Amino acid sequence: MRVIDFRSDTVTRPSQPMRQAMAFAEVGDDVYGEDPTVRALEERIAARLGHEAALFVPSGTQANQIAIGLHCRPGDEVVLDGGSHTYCVEGGGLAALWGVQARSVPSIRGVFTPEAVSGALSPESLATARSRLVVIENTHTRGGGRVWPLETYSAVVKRARESGLGIHLDGARLFNAEVATGVPVSAYGKLADTVSVAFSKGLGAPVGSALCSSSERIHEARRLRKRLGGGMRQAGILAAAGLFALDHHIPRLAEDHLHARKLAAGLAELPGITVDLTQVETNIVFAFFERGAAELVAVMRKHGVLASPEGSHPDLVRLVTHLDVSAADVDETLTRLRSALSG
Ligand SMILES: *Cc1c(COP(=O)(O)O)cnc(C)c1O
Repeated sequence: MRVIDFRSDTVTRPSQPMRQAMAFAEVGDDVYGEDPTVRALEERIAARLGHEAALFVPSGTQANQIAIGLHCRPGDEVVLDGGSHTYCVEGGGLAALWGVQARSVPSIRGVFTPEAVSGALSPESLATARSRLVVIENTHTRGGGRVWPLETYSAVVKRARESGLGIHLDGARLFNAEVATGVPVSAYGKLADTVSVAFSKGLGAPVGSALCSSSERIHEARRLRKRLGGGMRQAGILAAAGLFALDHHIPRLAEDHLHARKLAAGLAELPGITVDLTQVETNIVFAFFERGAAELVAVMRKHGVLASPEGSHPDLVRLVTHLDVSAADVDETLTRLRSALSG
Protein backbone atom coordinates (compact mmCIF):
# COMPACT_ATOMS: atom_id res chain seq x y z
CA MET A 1 0.00 0.00 0.00
CA ARG A 2 1.39 3.38 -1.00
CA VAL A 3 1.82 5.64 2.04
CA ILE A 4 0.40 9.12 1.52
CA ASP A 5 2.07 11.58 3.84
CA PHE A 6 0.16 14.72 4.91
CA ARG A 7 2.09 15.32 8.14
CA SER A 8 3.89 18.36 6.74
CA ASP A 9 5.12 19.97 3.53
CA THR A 10 8.64 19.34 4.87
CA VAL A 11 8.46 15.64 3.90
CA THR A 12 9.03 16.21 0.17
CA ARG A 13 12.05 14.55 -1.40
CA PRO A 14 14.13 16.36 -4.01
CA SER A 15 13.13 15.42 -7.55
CA GLN A 16 15.56 14.04 -10.11
CA PRO A 17 15.98 17.41 -11.87
CA MET A 18 16.49 19.17 -8.54
CA ARG A 19 19.16 16.61 -7.61
CA GLN A 20 20.74 17.19 -11.00
CA ALA A 21 20.93 20.94 -10.33
CA MET A 22 22.48 20.23 -6.93
CA ALA A 23 25.01 17.78 -8.30
CA PHE A 24 26.34 20.22 -10.88
CA ALA A 25 26.23 23.40 -8.76
CA GLU A 26 29.31 25.60 -8.87
CA VAL A 27 30.62 25.86 -5.32
CA GLY A 28 33.22 27.54 -3.11
CA ASP A 29 33.77 28.15 0.59
CA ASP A 30 30.77 30.23 1.64
CA VAL A 31 32.26 31.19 5.01
CA TYR A 32 34.87 33.02 2.87
CA GLY A 33 31.97 34.43 0.82
CA GLU A 34 33.20 32.44 -2.19
CA ASP A 35 30.27 30.22 -3.11
CA PRO A 36 28.74 31.64 -6.31
CA THR A 37 25.58 29.54 -6.05
CA VAL A 38 24.86 30.68 -2.49
CA ARG A 39 25.48 34.27 -3.56
CA ALA A 40 23.13 33.88 -6.52
CA LEU A 41 20.39 32.49 -4.27
CA GLU A 42 20.88 35.24 -1.69
CA GLU A 43 20.70 37.96 -4.35
CA ARG A 44 17.60 36.48 -5.94
CA ILE A 45 15.63 35.92 -2.78
CA ALA A 46 16.53 39.38 -1.42
CA ALA A 47 15.27 41.06 -4.60
CA ARG A 48 12.12 38.92 -4.59
CA LEU A 49 11.34 40.00 -1.00
CA GLY A 50 12.06 43.68 -1.62
CA HIS A 51 15.27 43.79 0.43
CA GLU A 52 18.94 44.66 -0.20
CA ALA A 53 20.53 41.47 1.02
CA ALA A 54 19.88 37.95 2.27
CA LEU A 55 21.61 35.21 4.21
CA PHE A 56 21.23 31.50 3.43
CA VAL A 57 20.75 29.49 6.63
CA PRO A 58 20.14 25.80 7.37
CA SER A 59 16.64 26.21 8.81
CA GLY A 60 13.72 28.54 9.35
CA THR A 61 14.28 28.27 13.07
CA GLN A 62 17.80 29.61 12.67
CA ALA A 63 16.55 32.43 10.40
CA ASN A 64 13.98 33.50 13.01
CA GLN A 65 16.42 33.23 15.89
CA ILE A 66 19.06 35.29 14.08
CA ALA A 67 16.36 37.91 13.51
CA ILE A 68 15.57 37.97 17.23
CA GLY A 69 19.28 38.37 17.97
CA LEU A 70 19.53 41.27 15.51
CA HIS A 71 16.61 43.19 16.96
CA CYS A 72 16.82 42.50 20.70
CA ARG A 73 19.09 42.71 23.72
CA PRO A 74 18.71 40.69 26.94
CA GLY A 75 15.71 41.87 28.94
CA ASP A 76 13.83 43.10 25.87
CA GLU A 77 10.31 41.98 25.06
CA VAL A 78 9.00 40.54 21.80
CA VAL A 79 5.33 40.94 20.89
CA LEU A 80 3.87 37.95 19.07
CA ASP A 81 0.88 35.65 19.06
CA GLY A 82 0.93 32.72 21.45
CA GLY A 83 0.58 30.15 18.67
CA SER A 84 3.51 31.41 16.61
CA HIS A 85 6.33 29.14 15.52
CA THR A 86 8.93 31.46 17.09
CA TYR A 87 7.22 31.21 20.47
CA CYS A 88 6.04 27.60 20.46
CA VAL A 89 8.46 25.37 18.62
CA GLU A 90 11.93 26.86 18.48
CA GLY A 91 13.31 25.17 21.55
CA GLY A 92 12.82 28.14 23.86
CA GLY A 93 15.35 30.06 21.75
CA LEU A 94 13.98 33.47 22.71
CA ALA A 95 14.96 32.88 26.33
CA ALA A 96 17.87 30.49 25.91
CA LEU A 97 19.78 32.29 23.15
CA TRP A 98 18.93 35.95 23.60
CA GLY A 99 17.52 36.46 27.12
CA VAL A 100 14.37 37.90 25.60
CA GLN A 101 10.87 37.53 26.98
CA ALA A 102 7.70 37.09 24.97
CA ARG A 103 4.45 39.03 25.28
CA SER A 104 1.74 37.09 23.51
CA VAL A 105 -1.22 38.97 22.10
CA PRO A 106 -4.74 37.70 21.38
CA SER A 107 -5.19 36.66 17.77
CA ILE A 108 -7.71 35.00 15.52
CA ARG A 109 -5.93 32.06 13.93
CA GLY A 110 -2.64 33.93 14.21
CA VAL A 111 -3.81 37.28 12.89
CA PHE A 112 -3.87 40.15 15.38
CA THR A 113 -4.77 43.83 15.23
CA PRO A 114 -2.96 47.15 15.77
CA GLU A 115 -5.01 47.53 18.97
CA ALA A 116 -3.60 44.22 20.22
CA VAL A 117 -0.09 45.55 19.62
CA SER A 118 -0.86 48.76 21.52
CA GLY A 119 -2.37 46.73 24.34
CA ALA A 120 0.82 44.70 24.65
CA LEU A 121 3.18 47.65 24.98
CA SER A 122 4.62 48.33 28.40
CA PRO A 123 4.53 51.92 29.62
CA GLU A 124 7.99 53.49 29.62
CA SER A 125 9.33 52.97 33.13
CA LEU A 126 12.33 51.62 34.98
CA ALA A 127 10.22 48.63 36.01
CA THR A 128 9.10 47.39 32.61
CA ALA A 129 10.81 45.41 29.89
CA ARG A 130 11.55 47.34 26.70
CA SER A 131 9.14 46.32 23.95
CA ARG A 132 11.42 45.91 20.96
CA LEU A 133 9.96 43.80 18.21
CA VAL A 134 6.75 42.47 16.68
CA VAL A 135 6.86 39.04 15.01
CA ILE A 136 4.23 38.34 12.35
CA GLU A 137 3.81 34.85 10.85
CA ASN A 138 2.40 34.64 7.31
CA THR A 139 0.98 32.21 6.41
CA HIS A 140 0.22 31.13 9.95
CA THR A 141 0.86 27.45 10.60
CA ARG A 142 -1.22 26.99 13.75
CA GLY A 143 -3.82 29.26 12.23
CA GLY A 144 -4.33 26.51 9.63
CA GLY A 145 -2.29 28.22 6.92
CA ARG A 146 -4.14 31.49 7.33
CA VAL A 147 -3.02 34.40 5.17
CA TRP A 148 -2.60 37.81 6.80
CA PRO A 149 -4.80 40.25 4.85
CA LEU A 150 -2.43 42.93 3.51
CA GLU A 151 -4.49 45.76 5.10
CA THR A 152 -4.31 44.20 8.57
CA TYR A 153 -0.62 43.47 8.11
CA SER A 154 0.09 47.06 6.99
CA ALA A 155 -1.91 48.48 9.90
CA VAL A 156 -0.03 46.34 12.44
CA VAL A 157 3.31 47.34 10.89
CA LYS A 158 2.33 51.02 11.01
CA ARG A 159 1.30 50.81 14.66
CA ALA A 160 4.47 48.94 15.58
CA ARG A 161 6.64 51.57 13.86
CA GLU A 162 4.80 54.44 15.57
CA SER A 163 5.67 52.72 18.84
CA GLY A 164 9.33 52.36 17.89
CA LEU A 165 9.23 48.59 17.45
CA GLY A 166 11.03 46.58 14.79
CA ILE A 167 9.14 44.10 12.60
CA HIS A 168 10.15 40.55 11.80
CA LEU A 169 8.07 38.63 9.29
CA ASP A 170 8.24 34.85 9.66
CA GLY A 171 7.43 34.03 6.06
CA ALA A 172 8.35 30.34 6.08
CA ARG A 173 5.27 29.88 3.83
CA LEU A 174 5.05 33.41 2.42
CA PHE A 175 5.00 32.11 -1.15
CA ASN A 176 1.81 30.22 -0.31
CA ALA A 177 0.28 33.58 0.62
CA GLU A 178 1.42 35.08 -2.68
CA VAL A 179 -0.03 32.27 -4.74
CA ALA A 180 -3.29 32.20 -2.76
CA THR A 181 -3.97 35.94 -2.97
CA GLY A 182 -1.91 37.34 -5.83
CA VAL A 183 -0.28 39.80 -3.42
CA PRO A 184 3.45 39.60 -4.22
CA VAL A 185 5.74 38.47 -1.41
CA SER A 186 7.58 41.80 -1.73
CA ALA A 187 4.43 43.69 -0.70
CA TYR A 188 4.63 41.96 2.67
CA GLY A 189 8.41 41.69 2.71
CA LYS A 190 9.37 45.30 2.10
CA LEU A 191 7.30 46.55 5.07
CA ALA A 192 9.25 44.39 7.53
CA ASP A 193 12.80 45.00 8.79
CA THR A 194 13.69 41.33 8.54
CA VAL A 195 11.93 38.50 6.70
CA SER A 196 12.56 34.76 6.81
CA VAL A 197 11.44 32.44 4.03
CA ALA A 198 11.80 28.66 3.71
CA PHE A 199 12.94 26.67 0.70
CA SER A 200 12.26 23.37 2.47
CA LYS A 201 8.50 23.68 2.98
CA GLY A 202 6.14 24.06 0.03
CA LEU A 203 9.01 24.93 -2.30
CA GLY A 204 10.29 21.38 -1.98
CA ALA A 205 14.03 21.85 -1.38
CA PRO A 206 15.66 19.41 1.07
CA VAL A 207 17.28 22.09 3.26
CA GLY A 208 17.42 25.81 3.75
CA SER A 209 15.83 29.13 4.55
CA ALA A 210 16.86 32.72 3.95
CA LEU A 211 16.81 35.81 6.12
CA CYS A 212 16.35 39.04 4.15
CA SER A 213 17.07 42.59 5.34
CA SER A 214 19.34 45.61 4.75
CA SER A 215 22.99 44.96 3.79
CA GLU A 216 24.07 46.29 7.16
CA ARG A 217 21.80 43.96 9.14
CA ILE A 218 22.70 40.97 7.01
CA HIS A 219 26.39 41.65 7.65
CA GLU A 220 25.67 41.39 11.37
CA ALA A 221 23.40 38.39 10.75
CA ARG A 222 26.41 36.61 9.23
CA ARG A 223 28.20 36.95 12.57
CA LEU A 224 25.18 35.61 14.48
CA ARG A 225 24.84 32.70 12.04
CA LYS A 226 28.49 31.84 12.68
CA ARG A 227 27.92 32.05 16.41
CA LEU A 228 25.00 29.62 16.13
CA GLY A 229 27.14 27.21 14.12
CA GLY A 230 25.31 27.89 10.88
CA GLY A 231 28.27 28.91 8.71
CA MET A 232 28.39 26.33 5.93
CA ARG A 233 31.20 25.70 3.44
CA GLN A 234 30.32 24.38 -0.06
CA ALA A 235 26.69 25.18 0.64
CA GLY A 236 26.05 25.87 -3.05
CA ILE A 237 25.03 22.23 -3.32
CA LEU A 238 22.07 23.12 -1.08
CA ALA A 239 21.50 26.61 -2.46
CA ALA A 240 21.15 25.08 -5.94
CA ALA A 241 18.02 23.31 -4.70
CA GLY A 242 16.66 26.66 -3.52
CA LEU A 243 17.33 28.25 -6.91
CA PHE A 244 15.68 25.31 -8.64
CA ALA A 245 12.67 25.71 -6.36
CA LEU A 246 12.39 29.44 -7.16
CA ASP A 247 12.51 28.61 -10.87
CA HIS A 248 10.06 25.73 -10.88
CA HIS A 249 8.02 25.35 -7.71
CA ILE A 250 6.23 28.62 -7.00
CA PRO A 251 3.20 28.73 -9.35
CA ARG A 252 2.57 25.05 -8.67
CA LEU A 253 1.71 25.88 -5.03
CA ALA A 254 -1.74 26.59 -6.50
CA GLU A 255 -2.09 22.83 -7.01
CA ASP A 256 -1.35 22.22 -3.33
CA HIS A 257 -4.05 24.73 -2.42
CA LEU A 258 -6.54 23.08 -4.77
CA HIS A 259 -5.67 19.66 -3.31
CA ALA A 260 -6.17 21.02 0.21
CA ARG A 261 -9.64 22.28 -0.70
CA LYS A 262 -10.56 18.96 -2.33
CA LEU A 263 -9.24 17.03 0.63
CA ALA A 264 -11.10 19.28 3.07
CA ALA A 265 -14.39 18.96 1.19
CA GLY A 266 -14.03 15.17 1.02
CA LEU A 267 -13.11 14.83 4.70
CA ALA A 268 -16.07 17.00 5.71
CA GLU A 269 -18.41 14.38 4.20
CA LEU A 270 -17.04 11.57 6.34
CA PRO A 271 -18.81 10.44 9.52
CA GLY A 272 -17.46 12.04 12.69
CA ILE A 273 -15.27 14.59 10.86
CA THR A 274 -15.93 18.33 10.79
CA VAL A 275 -13.96 20.76 8.66
CA ASP A 276 -14.53 24.49 8.37
CA LEU A 277 -14.02 24.83 4.63
CA THR A 278 -13.92 28.63 4.80
CA GLN A 279 -10.68 28.33 6.78
CA VAL A 280 -8.81 26.38 4.11
CA GLU A 281 -6.88 29.24 2.52
CA THR A 282 -3.60 27.58 1.50
CA ASN A 283 -2.12 24.09 1.90
CA ILE A 284 -3.16 23.21 5.46
CA VAL A 285 -6.38 21.46 6.49
CA PHE A 286 -7.62 21.18 10.07
CA ALA A 287 -10.11 18.36 10.67
CA PHE A 288 -12.01 17.83 13.93
CA PHE A 289 -12.84 14.23 14.83
CA GLU A 290 -15.53 13.51 17.39
CA ARG A 291 -13.59 10.57 18.83
CA GLY A 292 -10.39 12.60 19.24
CA ALA A 293 -7.32 13.36 17.15
CA ALA A 294 -5.32 10.34 18.33
CA GLU A 295 -8.04 7.99 17.10
CA LEU A 296 -8.31 9.58 13.65
CA VAL A 297 -4.52 9.66 13.22
CA ALA A 298 -4.41 5.95 14.15
CA VAL A 299 -7.20 5.00 11.71
CA MET A 300 -5.46 6.93 8.97
CA ARG A 301 -2.10 5.35 9.70
CA LYS A 302 -3.65 1.89 9.50
CA HIS A 303 -4.78 2.77 5.99
CA GLY A 304 -1.48 4.25 4.87
CA VAL A 305 -2.39 7.90 5.37
CA LEU A 306 -0.17 9.98 7.64
CA ALA A 307 -1.39 13.10 9.45
CA SER A 308 -0.41 14.92 12.67
CA PRO A 309 -2.42 15.63 15.78
CA GLU A 310 -2.60 19.44 16.01
CA GLY A 311 -1.51 20.06 19.59
CA SER A 312 -3.73 23.10 20.15
CA HIS A 313 -6.93 21.01 20.51
CA PRO A 314 -7.45 17.33 21.50
CA ASP A 315 -9.84 16.64 18.60
CA LEU A 316 -7.87 18.42 15.89
CA VAL A 317 -5.84 16.73 13.13
CA ARG A 318 -3.59 18.60 10.70
CA LEU A 319 -3.11 17.60 7.06
CA VAL A 320 -0.72 19.45 4.77
CA THR A 321 -0.61 19.14 0.99
CA HIS A 322 2.66 19.41 -0.93
CA LEU A 323 4.73 18.57 -4.00
CA ASP A 324 4.71 14.83 -3.32
CA VAL A 325 0.91 14.55 -2.98
CA SER A 326 -0.92 14.30 -6.32
CA ALA A 327 -4.58 14.81 -7.17
CA ALA A 328 -4.84 11.01 -7.43
CA ASP A 329 -3.37 10.69 -3.92
CA VAL A 330 -6.09 12.96 -2.57
CA ASP A 331 -8.78 10.82 -4.25
CA GLU A 332 -7.12 7.64 -3.00
CA THR A 333 -6.96 9.07 0.54
CA LEU A 334 -10.67 9.84 0.51
CA THR A 335 -11.51 6.39 -0.89
CA ARG A 336 -9.49 4.68 1.84
CA LEU A 337 -10.97 6.81 4.63
CA ARG A 338 -14.50 6.46 3.35
CA SER A 339 -14.33 2.70 3.68
CA ALA A 340 -12.40 2.89 6.99
CA LEU A 341 -14.87 5.23 8.68
CA SER A 342 -18.16 4.12 7.16
CA GLY A 343 -17.69 0.45 8.11
C1 LIG B 1 8.58 25.36 9.67
C2 LIG B 1 8.48 26.74 10.14
C3 LIG B 1 9.59 27.40 10.67
C4 LIG B 1 10.91 26.72 10.94
O1 LIG B 1 11.50 26.10 9.89
P1 LIG B 1 12.52 24.89 10.12
O2 LIG B 1 13.27 24.90 8.83
O3 LIG B 1 11.69 23.68 10.34
O4 LIG B 1 13.38 25.23 11.29
C5 LIG B 1 9.43 28.71 11.06
N1 LIG B 1 8.25 29.33 10.94
C6 LIG B 1 7.17 28.74 10.43
C7 LIG B 1 5.89 29.50 10.30
C8 LIG B 1 7.24 27.42 10.02
O5 LIG B 1 6.14 26.82 9.55
